[in-house]
Amino acid sequence: MHKLIHFLKQANNIVFMTGAGISAESGIPTFREAQTGLWEKFKAEELATPQAFEQDPLLVWKWYQWRRQLIAKNKPNPGHLAITKIQNELKHVTLITQNVDGLHQEAGTRDVIEFHGNIRNNKCSYCSHVENNSDNQSDVIPQCPNCEVNLRPAVVWFGESIPESASQQSMQAASQADLFFSVGTSSRVYPAAGLVELARQNKATIVEINPNATPMTSIADYVFAEPASVALQRIIEVLSLPGDLVNTKSNI
Ligand SMILES: [Zn+2]
Repeated sequence: MHKLIHFLKQANNIVFMTGAGISAESGIPTFREAQTGLWEKFKAEELATPQAFEQDPLLVWKWYQWRRQLIAKNKPNPGHLAITKIQNELKHVTLITQNVDGLHQEAGTRDVIEFHGNIRNNKCSYCSHVENNSDNQSDVIPQCPNCEVNLRPAVVWFGESIPESASQQSMQAASQADLFFSVGTSSRVYPAAGLVELARQNKATIVEINPNATPMTSIADYVFAEPASVALQRIIEVLSLPGDLVNTKSNI
């Protein structure tokens, strides 16, 4: 652990990539688990597509409003807050998240790269207009002020590409990282999983934090087989020790 803390303090570029695991610790069900109540008979894969929105915009809209209401009940957890603290205390900490719930931003992390968009926003399919979804209860789909068409949730749907800017920023961050943390992600879904490989190819030290083993576990330099909130809190505690004490220890 102390060696890792030494790396953390010395690193010029630290990248965190987070996935569903860190949100689950806040009580947010994973995408496929979320189908309960009225929505039990629908499959997420059938609602989260451009085709579904085209065919029945109100159905898809109501599903997203329901999910937004679920998310609004949850708060950032110690894992989210620890990343913010690390970003505030160390230089050049970049966060890439696959989560759409906006909890990292709520926890105060800055310049979050939203790999799969942000469910708290709506966007236009035809122009660059993006706006905050101001009312989670409304069944009226807001309209684009420029195009007068339905706005849609600003998330990446099945069959869609990662937004160009998020993709480019993520690849740049991963390729420049000295230290790359993969947190709460199964590392099975590409292209996100490819970012760990890209960081590895560019000689980054890889840290995996996930309760279960993943395809990346064998290539990671440090593995914390535990929840993000637990592992990141421990890192924060050691990070807070006086610098000399940390630097003189070579064991992990
Ligand atoms: Zn528009």
